[in-house]
Amino acid sequence: MLTITPNFAQDRALNMLRHEWKVQNSFMVYAPTGSGKTGLAAFITDGFVSRGMRVLFVAPYTVLLRQTASRFISYGLNPDEIGLIWAEADKGEADPERLIQIASADTLIRRDFPDNINLLIIDEAHLRKRTILKEIERLTSETDVKVIGLSGTPFSSFLGNYYQRLIKPTTISELIKRGDLSPFEFYAPTKPDLKGVKMSASDFGRDYNETQLAEIMSGSDLVGDIVSNWLENGRDLPTIAFCVNVAHANFVTIQFNKAGVNAEVMTAETPHDQRQVMIHRFETGATKILVSVGVLVAGFDSDVRCIIYARPTKSEIRWIQCIGRGLRTAPGKDTCLIFDHSGTVHRLGFPDAIEYDVLLDSSDGMKEAAARAAEERAEKIPKECPECHFMKPAGVYVCPKCGFKPLAGSDVDTDTSRKIKKLSKGSSVATKSTKQAWWSQIKFYQRQRASTGKPVSNGWCLHTFRDKFGEWPNGLSDFPMEITPEVSNYIRHKQIAWAKGQEKRQLQQTPVVHNRTEGQPQQLTTIPEGCPTSRIISAKKQFEQLRNHAGERT
Ligand SMILES: [Zn+2]
Repeated sequence: MLTITPNFAQDRALNMLRHEWKVQNSFMVYAPTGSGKTGLAAFITDGFVSRGMRVLFVAPYTVLLRQTASRFISYGLNPDEIGLIWAEADKGEADPERLIQIASADTLIRRDFPDNINLLIIDEAHLRKRTILKEIERLTSETDVKVIGLSGTPFSSFLGNYYQRLIKPTTISELIKRGDLSPFEFYAPTKPDLKGVKMSASDFGRDYNETQLAEIMSGSDLVGDIVSNWLENGRDLPTIAFCVNVAHANFVTIQFNKAGVNAEVMTAETPHDQRQVMIHRFETGATKILVSVGVLVAGFDSDVRCIIYARPTKSEIRWIQCIGRGLRTAPGKDTCLIFDHSGTVHRLGFPDAIEYDVLLDSSDGMKEAAARAAEERAEKIPKECPECHFMKPAGVYVCPKCGFKPLAGSDVDTDTSRKIKKLSKGSSVATKSTKQAWWSQIKFYQRQRASTGKPVSNGWCLHTFRDKFGEWPNGLSDFPMEITPEVSNYIRHKQIAWAKGQEKRQLQQTPVVHNRTEGQPQQLTTIPEGCPTSRIISAKKQFEQLRNHAGERT
């Protein structure tokens, strides 16, 4: 007997399985993040071993082997009945006589498949492992061994050839509604131009060619947008960034580090021990951003509150697996911020809108079913708010974030060169106490600067506040409050933006020269920025503006 009781999704799945158990040999259980997949496997396993039958559980990543074993034990399965099939298993862990065998798919492929099992469970079953698929085919056609696949994304086009029934106890959107998964807020600050990128084979089906993608995504403007947007809107939240390849990830990481944000790269090549250390640093907050290349999609349960998605994809599986990392609930977490810099949300839509009611296979009827599903989904594709880049659910007209009403008929093929504008603008988002906290911290920053001999003016403080909230700090106390990373990131973002603008202005400074008439001396028709005259003019303007604002405030 297990020491846990089934949750609603496990209960439904067990009932559905029971119902079909005698008529089918193989089942694919759709078990999204947060539905209790490993617990479900424990309940099924318990039912078998309590009658003296043998279960083989196969995991695709070695990191999942010991994790699964220790979860099984914590749920109440007998540790003396669990053995590991793994090249790196200790002597005490490997024992083929035990009723529950937890195997690494790669080890299993190199050895003889155990021939005494009664149930085969395949974890992450959407991954194509040829040897294992052959074994499923053999077991289901030649023996009475039952096969259960588990996946949070059972959308691979081959699954219907190997599994007879889809068991779908719940969905991501139901889990979010119930509070078992975190809600999310999508923003699409940039959308790269992917015209001409070729397709090639990948673990998750056909997808964009990685080398070409990396080249586009490593454009310094794109990466600059990623960093500056996070500084401005990321609220200093623990973040995972998904990148295309190692070169791209390194570039993004360096840019974050340059901006004073601790970021680290984790790839498939990062050794297990080092990964654990990095995850620890992430969980303690010493590392703010984990930059991932094809990892952190399985067996990673840390508290993630922001996702930077910079890896364009056409694969619904990859998309959901990555975004799923941010959907775990945690104390004090009310939402997960998702910054899509890849254009994927425009293409595939929200991850909780991607649903299938059947398993796909290679037959023509299935292609039709897939096409129909895609069509239905196209109607649900979210629209981008042209004002703040919030991704609005389909059919929503007024932006729930900033209140912007698009003009009738104006669609949202927005300018990709813009970045998110003032997410927190509008009173619906910021409370008075938030505004007071920001103002106090800005005043603290001003004191700090004065003490280092590089003062900033009162006008600078007023403008920084207004950039953030779209209004002046009327009625707020000047009492300083120690600065948090969120506010200091925001200030850093402003400084970087200013320096960038400065660079651009210098490039454009070559004066505009009009050649009025042949033979006449050339005349300057504009006052070049940066020259003494223009500096005096702009200083005067600023002074006047400030005086007006000061008047407004009293
Ligand atoms: Zn908006």
